Amino acid sequence: MIEHDASPATDSVYTEAAAWFSEHWDENLTLGQWWEQLAEAGWAFPSWPKGFGGRGLPPQATKQVTAARRAVGALGPPNGVSTFLVAPTLLHYGSDEQKARFLPGIVTGCDRWCQLFSEPGAGSDMAGLATRADLDGDEWVVSGQKVWNSGAQFARYGILIARTDPDQPKHKGITYFLIDMEQDGVDVRPLREMTGDAAFNEVFLSDARVPEANRLGEPGDGWRVAMTTLSHERDPDNAGMGDSAAFGTYDLATPVGRYMEESATIVDGFSIALGGTINRTLDDIIDTSGRNDDPVTRQELMKLLAMRRTSRWSGQRAVDAMKAGGEPGPEVSTLKLVGSAIGRHTRDTGLEAMGASGMLYAEDAPQNGVFQAYAMFTPALSIAGGTDEVQRNIISERVLGLPREPGEAEQRSQPWSELRRS
Ligand SMILES: Cc1cc2nc3c(=O)[nH]c(=O)nc-3n(C[C@H](O)[C@H](O)[C@H](O)COP(=O)(O)OP(=O)(O)OC[C@H]3O[C@@H](n4cnc5c(N)ncnc54)[C@H](O)[C@@H]3O)c2cc1C
Repeated sequence: MIEHDASPATDSVYTEAAAWFSEHWDENLTLGQWWEQLAEAGWAFPSWPKGFGGRGLPPQATKQVTAARRAVGALGPPNGVSTFLVAPTLLHYGSDEQKARFLPGIVTGCDRWCQLFSEPGAGSDMAGLATRADLDGDEWVVSGQKVWNSGAQFARYGILIARTDPDQPKHKGITYFLIDMEQDGVDVRPLREMTGDAAFNEVFLSDARVPEANRLGEPGDGWRVAMTTLSHERDPDNAGMGDSAAFGTYDLATPVGRYMEESATIVDGFSIALGGTINRTLDDIIDTSGRNDDPVTRQELMKLLAMRRTSRWSGQRAVDAMKAGGEPGPEVSTLKLVGSAIGRHTRDTGLEAMGASGMLYAEDAPQNGVFQAYAMFTPALSIAGGTDEVQRNIISERVLGLPREPGEAEQRSQPWSELRRS
């Protein structure tokens, strides 16, 4: 569980962080040196524990630190599956040895990770997964197929859930592992999306090996650990999600200033959606298309503002739930839903403001097609991390206490090996 210091005044956090950033920010450092310094000083992920890139500050302090960093134009910490999914799960369930072994590589950007959860026959019904892991001495032997694995082509490690006891009900026979991707038996095949990018992959596991020491949580308790990972994935205030590294690969030896210049020209939906800069792009589009005074555009912008305010309000509730339980509660599903609605509304408002040029793509389009790349990515916001329909099910059943889906009670009690599968 992440321990937070009592409640230091966040404006004093801003002052201290601002002083540190103005003294240490140097765009001639290499990317690797900068990330190492940030992590060592505890300004990389301020709400994480000391020694792991943070200072144990309350979650709200992250915003102050980000503001202080942006004020000097400094690059943020590493970003991606490693920081927003793996690290919070490791902090919650990892042994001291696992934290010490894996977290330093994450906070310094040396090791990138991917998430090996979804399967061709188990997406929304993730607990139905069929990838097998069997214990052989002090190693687990894993075989099966995963799919939609973002960044697996760059990943050094993966978080993996696999079935370790098929005779238990489907939620009970799953175990959570930390798998080394650089081994025989792990075959990563990129998948091309409608955006034109190949950000995610299929991963085929054939007798891949995972040492017992890389099991996270107890055997058979993988569902609970995976729910922690997913609740962080659905939390837009996740401290590990920031405006720094673009989605693709990077070279830690690149001077950080050059890295920033180069990544500013990257046009892929994943990086833009993760980067959090789309609101500024929308403002630019409305400015350059002369729609600032157009009543319809202004109305759409007001709707967006209202959605963001609502999201912030429910965000506070999720933070409260997190303080009470040590991790985001099912309430974060409301944030995930509002987040995908905001994404769609941002897309529609921007494309409408662009008029006919909204139909162009890539370098033919205004701003090199950044907004169009985002627009093509927006359907993914309603799918990744659990679809909108699944979030509604969670809200109805676990927040509002409505009855579960028909047939679910039987599904939860029968052994997985006896369930009918597609
Ligand atoms: C950009 C992106 C990145 C991703 N990255 C990863 C990753 O890194 N690792 C990973 O493991 N996975 C990843 N995923 C996969 C993602 O988690 C799944 O796509 C998602 O969980 C949905 O599963 P599915 O695609 O199998 O759809 P299905 O489960 O087959 O769903 C199909 C449709 O049926 C609906 N549906 C299904 N069940 C119900 C129900 N009970 N009630 C109502 N409606 C229902 C769904 O809402 C959806 O509309 C990623 C997906 C995207 C889009």
